[in-house]
Amino acid sequence: MRTVYVNGDYVPENEAKVSVFDRGFLFADGVYEVTSVLDGKLVDFAGHCGRLRRSLSELSMNFSVSDDELLAIHRELVSRNGLEEGLVYLQVTRGAADRDFVFPPDDTPATLVLFTQEKSLIDSALAQRGQKIFTVGDHRWSRCDIKTVQLLYPSLAKMEARAKGGDDAWLVRDGLVTEGSSNNAYIVLADGSIVTRDISNFILHGITRKAVLACARKLQMKVVERAFTVEEARHAVEAFSTSASGFVSPVISIDGHEIGDGKPGPVARKLRDVYIEEMRKASI
Ligand code: PMP
Repeated sequence: MRTVYVNGDYVPENEAKVSVFDRGFLFADGVYEVTSVLDGKLVDFAGHCGRLRRSLSELSMNFSVSDDELLAIHRELVSRNGLEEGLVYLQVTRGAADRDFVFPPDDTPATLVLFTQEKSLIDSALAQRGQKIFTVGDHRWSRCDIKTVQLLYPSLAKMEARAKGGDDAWLVRDGLVTEGSSNNAYIVLADGSIVTRDISNFILHGITRKAVLACARKLQMKVVERAFTVEEARHAVEAFSTSASGFVSPVISIDGHEIGDGKPGPVARKLRDVYIEEMRKASI
């Protein structure tokens, strides 16, 4: 039985409650963050806090809990649940109010929920085997840069890929790959350059993306931030995705086309190792 955090209280998970009038429940009017935990410590907490503030501000959502308080809550939950490796999920919604499209008054308290999930992040069977990707249309809204809890379409996209025997979906808008269902997408070209979609409203500005691109540049790898087509991806020598829960995760096929020799490639494996090493050093 986990201990979870709800609006100031640490409670057993089966006693945690949120109102049926919560705008997160009724309107998906909420934002979230997922921070990974290695050796009982938080990975890139400052990055996740920064993006949370941006999501809240883009949606004019009032939230009075400070970064220091959020850090203390994360640490308390990790400690109470004895979490060594896994994730901390945080969600903030605009709070509970009678159902209305108009936002409730500014003094309506936000809802804050956090819980932990145990997960083997380093020894990942999927990272060892490599992911099979299928491409599907990107039918999300045009503010994918805000990390909202509107996750129905990404969930449908992933299920579509699963129905075809794949592991995950890469989303395609106007013939160009935007990102994965819950991760950023990358290809490696024959000249060794790493290509990933440039930052815009059409992708989430991944915290892992930023750190992994910094690792790549430090390793003198060439990074090109631009859109790429599905055709280009199918003919890439390597492909991979990044996220807080998957770190760097190699891709071995796209729409049934084998990538490279059909095994996790050297660029993805190197970046995964270096990223994990760097994050272990910097976790708090
Ligand atoms: N894109 C999408 C759509 C995501 O849902 C996620 C993870 N939540 C990412 C990218 C990766 O972001 P991060 O590296 O911050 O986990």
